[in-house]
Order: sequence, then structure tokens, then C-alpha cells
Amino acid sequence: MEKLVYGPVPSRRFGISLGVDVVPFKVCTLDCTYCQLGHTTRHSTRRELFVPVARVVEQVGAAISRGPIPDIITFAGSGEPTLYSGLGELAEELRATFSIPLLLITNGTLLWQPEVAAEAARFDLVAPSLDAGDEATFRLLNRPAPEVTFQRLVEGLTSFAACHPEKVRLEVFFVAGVNDSPEQVEALVATVTAIAAPRVELNTAVRPTADASVRGVSAEFLADVARRFTCPAIPIAVSPIAASRVAQSGTGDLRTDILTTLARRPCTAADLSNSMALHLPQVETTLQVLLAEGKIAAEARANALYYVLRP
Ligand code: SF4
Repeated sequence: MEKLVYGPVPSRRFGISLGVDVVPFKVCTLDCTYCQLGHTTRHSTRRELFVPVARVVEQVGAAISRGPIPDIITFAGSGEPTLYSGLGELAEELRATFSIPLLLITNGTLLWQPEVAAEAARFDLVAPSLDAGDEATFRLLNRPAPEVTFQRLVEGLTSFAACHPEKVRLEVFFVAGVNDSPEQVEALVATVTAIAAPRVELNTAVRPTADASVRGVSAEFLADVARRFTCPAIPIAVSPIAASRVAQSGTGDLRTDILTTLARRPCTAADLSNSMALHLPQVETTLQVLLAEGKIAAEARANALYYVLRP
């Protein structure tokens, strides 16, 4: 059966997270240069029922039964989750069945559509992205599908934040040399202020990305930019506490669990060791076997060695 649920894994921002992945790899309204999943293979704005709602609920139930109990159920994964037309119904089903908060990580490009906004409103938290304060930077960095415009993105975010300010956790991703000039930062801060986002989280590239040329900005840059927002703005950091809370989870087959995790994002051996609560040498040995079999590849990045799934 197709795997629609992964984890739980330690999330940078939300504690122990059980992931729900309802969109096929890699269907998205954007093709961000910094995407950790690689290039978008289907640029689309058409919403579809990619999988039956009941099948997702069944797999979430099985994962929760195995334990540990997650802090949050996170919709993200292989593409843009608002492209799933069963999103609202699934959120309702999960809410009725499990008493666990729901988080939607979205690029926000479809939030201007009233039905998408209504479905997103069924989540406890919504984490949309905004990486630019102008159309040219948006196109350069996020490479949208032809129907997606910067104006609609901003309109959707503004309207959603006005109706549900308590739910919104806006994320801004910075790429060195692409959206970090003083003018671009000024336009971005002005746009976030106009949207009236209640809180902003600042992120940058630390893992291998779709475009190999992508480079992260410095921690000092993020700290400096954080001071310019009128709302609370927080550079995101890895939470070792969250990592240490993860107990044994997954399928019980280390090879399968590593390949499943790497299908979602590149990881270091330490990332995998933390998220699976396993000894590092055990993870490293399995990684060497998978490397020798050609199932994964290793990429040096930011003084660390990341493992990625080979296509
Ligand atoms: S980062 Fe998110 S929004 Fe951008 S291409 Fe990847 S999946 Fe799509």
C-alpha cells in the first residue's frame, strides 16, 4: 500500500511531528530553487483527490497506535498539500478521530481561493511561505506555474491572516544573492507588514536543494533582518529537545525507514540518528550499505555530509 504517513520525526518548529503526504511527488504550484525535494515534475494549480480520505485516516491511526504519540500532525511532503481536494474533509476526519493539533505547511499560492482558505481554516496552525516582496524576485526564486501571480499570493495571505491571525506562522526563506539585497529585504518587510502577519519565522538553506547553486545566508543576516519586522520574527533553529523526545518509531526496518525519510528531505547521519533514536554507528553502517547499492548518494554541504535518495 502507498505510504502516506511518515515519522514521527523531530520538527524544527513544532516538536514531534507525524507527517501526512497526500500529494504525489512532486506536484506543486511552484518550483522553488531551494526546494529540498528537487525540481517540480508537475507544475500544476489543479486540485485533485490524489488518494481517498479514508486511506489516509487509516494510516494515521496505524502510526499513532505504533507510537510515540506526536505533538502535531503535519501536512507537507512531496508537493503542495492544498492541491489535494480532500484537504478539508481529511482535516475534519482527523480532528474527529484523534485529539492532536493539525498543522498545514503550504506555499500559500492557492489561499486566495475561498474554498482553499475555508479548508485551511480547519487546521490549528497554518504555515505559509513568502520569500519576496516583489513579483520579479518571486519569479526568480519560486518559479511559479503560469497561473500563479505574486499579487494573488499576497491577497490570499492578507485575507487569511485577517480572518485567522492566531493560526498563521509565516515563513520566509532567504537565498544568498537572490532575495537578500537591502532593497529586496525592505520590500519584503513592507509586504509582511501590509499582510499583518502576526509572526514570522526566518529560514535559509542548510540542506542540498533543487538548484545546486543555492547558498544560505548567515545567522547574523537572519538576526539582523529579524529586527526589522514590526511583528515577532524568529530565525529558525534545530531543537535538540524535540529530537531527544523521539522514541523508537517507524516500520522497524532501518533500511526502509531511512529510505522513506530521505525521500522527503536530505539528512545527515546525525539527523537520521536523532529522528530515529538510534545509535549513530548503526545508522552510518546502513547508510554505507545503501550507498554501495546505489540507492542513495552523499553530498557535502555547509561543512556537513547530506544523504539524498537517488532517483
Ligand atoms: S519548497 Fe515547497 S513550494 Fe517550493 S517547490 Fe518545494 S514543495 Fe513546492
